[in-house]
Amino acid sequence: MPLTPPATAIRVENVCHRFGSNTVLNNLSLTVPQGTIIALLGPSGCGKSTLLKLLAGLLHPDAGQVFFGTQKVVDGRFSLPPEKRDLGMVFQDYALWPHMTVAQNVAFPLQMRGIARPLRQQRVLAALDRVGLADFEQRRPYELSGGQQQRVALARAIVAEPQILLFDEPLSNLDRDLRETLCTEMAVLLRQLGTTAVYVTHDQQEAEALAHAIARMKQGVIERIDYLQKPAVSPFVA
Ligand code: ADP
Ligand code: MG
Repeated sequence: MPLTPPATAIRVENVCHRFGSNTVLNNLSLTVPQGTIIALLGPSGCGKSTLLKLLAGLLHPDAGQVFFGTQKVVDGRFSLPPEKRDLGMVFQDYALWPHMTVAQNVAFPLQMRGIARPLRQQRVLAALDRVGLADFEQRRPYELSGGQQQRVALARAIVAEPQILLFDEPLSNLDRDLRETLCTEMAVLLRQLGTTAVYVTHDQQEAEALAHAIARMKQGVIERIDYLQKPAVSPFVA
């Protein structure tokens, strides 16, 4: 029987991005097959966050194209707005809305997708349960520890079951013990979900614990990709 090549979840082609005279992404290409967790490692300032923002639609590249599956989300003339991209994102600083309860924060992506309240509540509870915060629905973010806030952010990212998850150094504000605990929990959760993920970190151990492959970035390009175990599908630089 012929082998079917793995479907591509993300394809970045020859993307360039400049801030003034500073070339931050320099003709960068990257392909991530469906279901692959790829860690993006590299020194501060090499363009990791810029690449994630571009995938999220928060920035537009000066040149190049991006595809999610077969859908083009960016080219020279066109950029699909962030709310129309089927993705969830977790930031270093949690980025929860302080005036909303935990449940309201987590429900937000479902509201954006027009999902009716009864189903919304059900899915919010399921997502909070998955991150170990089943009893925290009515709390406010300021009543929670950093680790708990990041669990809420994770629940918000996964609640709508997006095709793609983006993480920008989600554990780097937490102390070492908590980082290890959450890293292990996230590794289990991400594998259960099977969602394609791009996970930015500057911590080699974290990358090894979480990812199928590690992409090393330097000065706006992907230098190389290391495969960590025998992955079902393999990412490669185009
Ligand atoms: P990393 O996440 O790898 O640390 P970034 O993608 O945040 O790197 O930044 C890459 C480069 O782009 C840095 O030199 C940074 O100073 C610059 N940069 C990032 N965002 C902006 C911005 N909004 N305006 C101007 N320069 C920026
Ligand atoms: Mg960054």
